Amino acid sequence: MLKKYLLSPGPTPVPEKVLLDMAMPMIHHRTSEFSNIFAEVREGLKPIFGTKQDVLMLAGSGTAAMEAAVVNTLNEGDKVLVINAGKFGKRWAEIATAYGLEVLTIDLEWGRSVRPEQVEAKLIAHPEIKAVLIQASETSTTAYHPIEEIAKIVSLRDDTLFIVDGITSVGVYETKMDEWGIDILITGSQKAFMLPPGLALIALSEKAWKFTEKSKLPKFYLNLKKERKSQSDNTTSWTPAVSLIIGLKSVLEIMNKEGLSNVYKRHALCAEATRKGLMAMGFDLLAKDIPSNSATGVVLPEGFDGGKFVKSMREKAGLTFAGGQDHLKGKILRVSHLGYHDFFDTIIALSALEMGFSQFGLKIDLGAGVKAAEEVFKPHLGV
Ligand SMILES: *Cc1c(COP(=O)(O)O)cnc(C)c1O
Repeated sequence: MLKKYLLSPGPTPVPEKVLLDMAMPMIHHRTSEFSNIFAEVREGLKPIFGTKQDVLMLAGSGTAAMEAAVVNTLNEGDKVLVINAGKFGKRWAEIATAYGLEVLTIDLEWGRSVRPEQVEAKLIAHPEIKAVLIQASETSTTAYHPIEEIAKIVSLRDDTLFIVDGITSVGVYETKMDEWGIDILITGSQKAFMLPPGLALIALSEKAWKFTEKSKLPKFYLNLKKERKSQSDNTTSWTPAVSLIIGLKSVLEIMNKEGLSNVYKRHALCAEATRKGLMAMGFDLLAKDIPSNSATGVVLPEGFDGGKFVKSMREKAGLTFAGGQDHLKGKILRVSHLGYHDFFDTIIALSALEMGFSQFGLKIDLGAGVKAAEEVFKPHLGV
């Protein structure tokens, strides 16, 4: 037997209760039965986004919501500023370029977090910038960008939107979209929301909805104005991802039972334990400024075959970690602590890594990583 552990920053494990709820016989979506579930989920999402606005549910992966954010608010030739600090920052630039926008970037070494002053300086140099596109948590590097501080700067400008990919931050960090001044906030189902992939969530501020009135970029499936109207009637413009929305109802019940502040605290503690555990094993963190609470990345020693290690751990030991993307392929390891993940999942991950790295020839002090994590968890065990 090989018990499987999913420790990658998306997809993440799905709780048993949610799997069972999603396994119920299919229901039709144009019914009061579905609309009642939809209405409950709509309300339940708002506190997690920190907004009074509708959180729209789209059938698609997170990237669908990223594309929707661009095509619904901007126009060809508009100048946008992208924080290009990893794979997902690069994706913002690719989407914007695909629609004929002019992309300015702040290019950072992978692992760095942008400083608010850098964004402010760009906005002063280019006051015509229509939107700042950023990740809250850049999953490819496990670095967090200081969203609240940047929101303060961008929200002072009536003609500039602050568009945040919160795909690995919503549900991980307390997020106050309205209070901080985020104009568009996005997430997807397969990260902190503990669901299978396929559902994208997006909320727009009043300011962003005003931008939709002037946006002429092509859109059909991802027309948010149309979607907003449908969803305000507890239905969707197209066939919704029925099973995922049923699963989301179940997820929200689980999150609310734990209490949102406890959800965020659990993520912070698992992240701290993972960081301390991996550092006790002798690794350096990839995130140099602000490591994210969603996943922890470490730099592997020169010459170590990270790709082979990840494959071997998955196939021979049953644990799925994530390696690096693009130029960091094979050079880093990423360990998730996202979603349905608690203290003992972190302990398992660290213990397996200690043994695995030793097998792969690294000099590891067995138990050092686990011990460091236990020191973090011990006061919070509640026994
Ligand atoms: C996973 C992820 C995405 C991509 O979402 P898909 O669901 O693969 O389309 C985008 N941004 C961030 C920060 C992510 O972690």
